[in-house]
Amino acid sequence: MIAVALLAAILQATPAAAGSRAGPRKATAPGPAEPATIAHNAQVLQELPFSDRQDYDDAQRGFIATLPDLTIVRDDGTIVFSLQEFEFLQQPEAPATVNPSLWRHAQVNLTHGLFQVTERVYQVRNFDLANMTIVEGQSGVIVIDPLTATETSKAALELYYQHRGVRPVKAVVYTHSHHDHYAGVKGVVSEADVLSGDVTVLAPEGFLDAAVSENVYAGTAMSRRASYMFGYLLPKTATGTVDDGLGKSQSVGTVSLIAPTDTITRSGETRNLDGVQIEFVMAPQTEAPAEMTLYFPELRVLDAAKIACPLMHNTLTPRGAQVRDPRKWAASLDELIARYGSQADVLIASHNWPRWGRGPAVQLMADQRDLYKFMNDQTLHLLNQGYVPVEIAEVIKLPASLAKLWYVRDHYGTLKHNVKAIYQRYLGWFDGNPANLDPLPPVEAARKYVEYMGGASVVTARAQQDFKHGEYRWVAQLMNQVVFAEPDNVEARKLQAAALEQLGYQAESPIWRNFYLSGAQELRDGLAPAPGGAATGSADTIRSMTIPLLFDYWGVLLDAAKANGQRMLLNWTFTERNESYALNLSNSALTHHPGLDPAADASFTLARATLNAILLGQTDFQTEVKAGRIQAVGNVQKLAELMGMLDKFEPQWPIVTP
Ligand SMILES: [Zn+2]
Repeated sequence: MIAVALLAAILQATPAAAGSRAGPRKATAPGPAEPATIAHNAQVLQELPFSDRQDYDDAQRGFIATLPDLTIVRDDGTIVFSLQEFEFLQQPEAPATVNPSLWRHAQVNLTHGLFQVTERVYQVRNFDLANMTIVEGQSGVIVIDPLTATETSKAALELYYQHRGVRPVKAVVYTHSHHDHYAGVKGVVSEADVLSGDVTVLAPEGFLDAAVSENVYAGTAMSRRASYMFGYLLPKTATGTVDDGLGKSQSVGTVSLIAPTDTITRSGETRNLDGVQIEFVMAPQTEAPAEMTLYFPELRVLDAAKIACPLMHNTLTPRGAQVRDPRKWAASLDELIARYGSQADVLIASHNWPRWGRGPAVQLMADQRDLYKFMNDQTLHLLNQGYVPVEIAEVIKLPASLAKLWYVRDHYGTLKHNVKAIYQRYLGWFDGNPANLDPLPPVEAARKYVEYMGGASVVTARAQQDFKHGEYRWVAQLMNQVVFAEPDNVEARKLQAAALEQLGYQAESPIWRNFYLSGAQELRDGLAPAPGGAATGSADTIRSMTIPLLFDYWGVLLDAAKANGQRMLLNWTFTERNESYALNLSNSALTHHPGLDPAADASFTLARATLNAILLGQTDFQTEVKAGRIQAVGNVQKLAELMGMLDKFEPQWPIVTP
């Protein structure tokens, strides 16, 4: 997600600040687990099959080596990724401040290093959020999913080289369009090797478009919410973040992108890469807009990308994105079972650990198929009986046959969040109750609520009692009103933080925990300065964006008030591929269409590379016009006027306070 923050910054032509995410700031000491939390977490220990340690063995199987005190740094010494701070997870029993089911998952996710999956197939796990898979071919290797940062992917490949010998990378495969599976590509191959044809880069249809566009329009908001979801500002402790579900944590390194040279468009397509036979099954619109799985018939290995990780995934990521399709997700898993259920000996994925043996692999895929279809259909079943999202989340329970399986537990996504997302997918945010059609906004409503309830001190005193009784969900809901009515009310903020903290300590999902604890932190310590991020490698993403996408983003940046009453029509020609567009501003809306308009106020002819440099903050329009690298005709001033109407988004804004 750091790539999103970066992208948003770049698109506003301001260089992103480099630096670590968690700058030094005042930190309030966390509270202890309250009696109700201790009881809740003790109950989890009773309910789930903790004696089943198979996942620990599965994660460890095939271990070859790792780096001691795993820490990966940039050239300048700043930390890109480290597992050192997670050593506290070695403690066998979960502390009272962590749900034991999450503790277990976080422990299994701590297994890191180079692993042999089977003959010729290796994985480097937990050198970043995702796994890098390496398959040995005739003369070199195929790298599948080269991680989030060039530093981590390079370290992962070097670890492999140390133990298997140096072999050239002959091909790279991106299984899907999320950046944790491609942005480290330049750590394993150079663009020159790809351009010369020495290295094939293979991806599913729609990859590039999805990779560069999925997070652009709402990118600033997604980044802000992602900082809660991944607990960027939380300490790594038993009262802070313990895991990210799909892996330990996100890296903060150099992001890159090399466009695919070959694309898979339909299920059943095959390729022979460096002598290795691979069969592909498409899984678009499941976990990512563009996604595919790989099967190696000679090696009997199925790589299910991200559609069969050993956990409940998100049908809608809480950081925000478009809702995914659990019905298609189930169908894709079913297709994998039908095609490979009687062949594959091991199931690997882009995250977490493998599932060994044909029977167990098929069982996991079948159970997850049923999980996604169950959530989809039962949400529809309930909404067709008039249930609204909050009610569906409250009443829906997994069938007993699924409920205790570790690989469908809420270790990333949650059942409650997912069913609300399915409601949203089919019916949208409005629950049909006209009382909710046009409610007062949060602050106005909160002031009224608190006033009607007798004032902040009365409400807070009542909520203190409920807190003692362990009613944290209600206290959080109620105190949110007091905090929004009186954001400077210290008592209210403290109680709200305490309630969120207990909810975090009880959460089975690491991302729910991170959300709760990030909220508590912000209530106690105030809004943190904007986290910095990677500052290089970003040019790759800019370069891959289409002109229509860039123009659309200008539309997003447009300040409607500044644009009020303004009209303009600008022609653009980009010389490399002779692409032309007319950009139109009217009614505070920016639109564009291919081709030139004879009525344009001004026309600009430039190389796309020049525009890229401007977007990267390396130069500006005026300088380029003066230098003759932009040929401008007509009322050139119009462009400056347009640029003056584009806002700059602040990366940080309050979430738990108004
Ligand atoms: Zn991923």
